[in-house]
Amino acid sequence: MKYVDEFRDAKLGQVLAGEILAEVDPHRHYKVMEVCGGHTHSIYKYGIDDLLPDNVELVHGPGCPVCVIPMGRVDDGIAIARQEGVIFTSFGDMLRVPGSQYTLLDAKAHGADVRMVYSPLDALRIARENPEREVVFFAIGFETTAPSTALTLKRARDEGISNFSCICNHVTIVPPLKALLESPDLRLDGFIGPGHVCTVVGARPFEFIPADYGRPVVISGFEPLDVMQSVLMILRQLSFGRCEVENQYTRVVPREGNLRALEVMSEVFELRPHFEWRGLGFISQSALKLSDAYREFDAEQRFEVPGMRVADPKACQCGEVLKGVIKPWECKVFGTACTPEHAIGTCMVSPEGACAAYYNFGRYARQKETA
Ligand code: SF4
Repeated sequence: MKYVDEFRDAKLGQVLAGEILAEVDPHRHYKVMEVCGGHTHSIYKYGIDDLLPDNVELVHGPGCPVCVIPMGRVDDGIAIARQEGVIFTSFGDMLRVPGSQYTLLDAKAHGADVRMVYSPLDALRIARENPEREVVFFAIGFETTAPSTALTLKRARDEGISNFSCICNHVTIVPPLKALLESPDLRLDGFIGPGHVCTVVGARPFEFIPADYGRPVVISGFEPLDVMQSVLMILRQLSFGRCEVENQYTRVVPREGNLRALEVMSEVFELRPHFEWRGLGFISQSALKLSDAYREFDAEQRFEVPGMRVADPKACQCGEVLKGVIKPWECKVFGTACTPEHAIGTCMVSPEGACAAYYNFGRYARQKETA
């Protein structure tokens, strides 16, 4: 297939749905986790779960970078944004994530100079254009976006731009998956692997899942037929007693990943000893900070930040959603106190968040109808 429409072909979708139906054991319940928020978005946008047999359940994972940012880190960003002379930049979704009292957009309404950017290079351009101001980029994302932050910092250094810095919240996907696999309250049969992350890291880092935990992984693209084919590949592994990492997304993901991107990441970043994930707590070696060679660009060194741990609001069940323990609509405040317009938790903010995907594509209304 060559064009995106072909990956959304309804007739081919029906064929795949038939093959999936033929593959399942009707006496068994299958739980498959889609790790990445991009997959969650596709599943609800295209109604993929409606095409699956009732005994094949898709469970949402922790792979939405906005969803896993804890409130304390938002408060740190706001503390910097409110300092005299600072221009604070980040991606649009991030500006709407609630901190302990308010969001970065609220801070902007109260007078802080907070600006939305589409890439870290936009933030660097703002620094170039405003040499008398301090420009800070709030970096988020998994290994998918970390290389672009790293390349921007390299460029800042090459150009001698000294009024630019970065508060680094980049996270890595393997440690939370290990934490989930160790969790006693979750039984999973397989994983739809995060295609975007794998374009950078390749397939190898996921080999521990079949080797140590006996669960198949299929690295998947994001179009509806990609996701359906990946579900079929997982079911076939289970039927045939195979357990390995397979790559459905071969048109984009090389087995070894992007070596140049990995090289620049290892130059600019190093692992933090531990990092707090929203709803998942502290996970060892699960996030990146700037390496000593790039310390001068580290906003956490340049500015005072509170660095406080803030407990999630009592009503918020984002942690259980991120671990796949509950469905978004099972959260007590879903669609009432918590909506995309007034989010209590992070999973309702980004379109990749499971709660936002359910809400935006009408799943809540349909769930109520079924009930
Ligand atoms: S409905 Fe809101 S508070 Fe509840 S899990 Fe979803 S984002 Fe979190």
